[in-house]
Amino acid sequence: MKLKAKRIKRHMVRTYEFWQMNLRLLVIAEDQKKLLEDFSAKLPPSDSGYLAFSYLDKDLRIAFLGTVDDESDEYEFFDNKEIVSIPASAVPNLLVRIVKLSEELAENPFIQQVLQEQANNALAMSTLTIRALDSRRDPQQPNRLRAFLVEDEDKINELIELHAMRQSALEEAEEQAAAASKKAKRTKKKDSDHPEEETEEDDEETEEVNEDESLSPQINISDELEKALQELWVYDLTPANNSSWRAVLEADLSGSKLKAGDPVHVDLRFVEQEGEEIALVFVDPEAEVEDVKIEVSSYRATRLPWRKAYELECLANHDFHETYYLGRNGEDSKLFNKIVADIRYGRLDPAMYIDMVQKDDVSMDFSRELYRCRHCGDLHVTRRLRLVTEESSMSEPYYCPKCGERSSQVKRVHIASLNCPECHRPLDMKPEKVWYASEEEDDSILLED
Ligand SMILES: [Zn+2]
Ligand SMILES: [Zn+2]
Repeated sequence: MKLKAKRIKRHMVRTYEFWQMNLRLLVIAEDQKKLLEDFSAKLPPSDSGYLAFSYLDKDLRIAFLGTVDDESDEYEFFDNKEIVSIPASAVPNLLVRIVKLSEELAENPFIQQVLQEQANNALAMSTLTIRALDSRRDPQQPNRLRAFLVEDEDKINELIELHAMRQSALEEAEEQAAAASKKAKRTKKKDSDHPEEETEEDDEETEEVNEDESLSPQINISDELEKALQELWVYDLTPANNSSWRAVLEADLSGSKLKAGDPVHVDLRFVEQEGEEIALVFVDPEAEVEDVKIEVSSYRATRLPWRKAYELECLANHDFHETYYLGRNGEDSKLFNKIVADIRYGRLDPAMYIDMVQKDDVSMDFSRELYRCRHCGDLHVTRRLRLVTEESSMSEPYYCPKCGERSSQVKRVHIASLNCPECHRPLDMKPEKVWYASEEEDDSILLED
């Protein structure tokens, strides 16, 4: 079989972040086999390269699932049930080409098993999407986080406020310096006939900007908290009800009844550090550990999306003829129940779980819509799902079932101007029809005359 992936450049395993490699296939070309020598006794033989799968367990792992030819992209999965899996940290210099998961590749039993395990752990997986936490993670085990113990809340607030003040003073100074150097350049141009004068002015400006010595060197907020507070490790950070967070203690907490493996209340504080947002993790042993219940309702739209059938045909080459049923049939309890089942089984986009657990006014807006792959042009109907809360809304990202790249929704008004995905000639669109779902039979769709 042949990979239908976008061809991208190879990079070393160690140059990827864990979240760039989770649930990805890796093409390991033949010339890389020498880097796998330590494992050659365990690995099944291959005349070409290996097709591997990288995924996050406790640490990032690479499982060898089959063979692949890096030139032709022809691949084959191994038949055997015993899959060899090694830690990614054992082969940091291995050059790999990353391939996104498609429907066809995801049918592999080992990949299915990993997807299921991650879905079973959806709440803890959801916080792995918070990039601001990356500097707090154990680089070998991203689920393990460095936290501070809250003993004196006032002390923490004081440090964070001081840090914020320092940051804004620093930014202001930088802006002034930038403005001054701009001005100096302008002056330079204007006064190029008088070099002496110009030097004088330059010196003056620089001196003024660097006056406040307390700003440099920059002080790191986490270093400072480290000096003032006790550090500890937690794992499996998850969102919890009432906008809170919780995690699991790695070790017994001295001076408290809390033991290793107990859930604890966690506060996340987001601060700016060198132009980047970082999240600081605080364990508050006194605070209540909130539940992780999810309650969602169906969003009451003021106007439902058009319920229409679009029939498209390639009249030029007769290589394409499809009818797409888009929109939704009233409350559509069938589709809503499917979404609820997906939530329960951890099958939604991980980032969506955070809002679903933390907010109590969450509703789901959904309909069937047409999507087009940005890479291979494949057309497919997917349910469009939007999480709506009072202050925000968030859409699920959509991926092409054929090649795994991102898909974009085709607006209804643009459907008539689509080109054939096979031969790229303009498609012919028949007059739109209204459809309705049959009450008796499951998933059957009827057309109105
Ligand atoms: Zn595609
Ligand atoms: Zn065509």
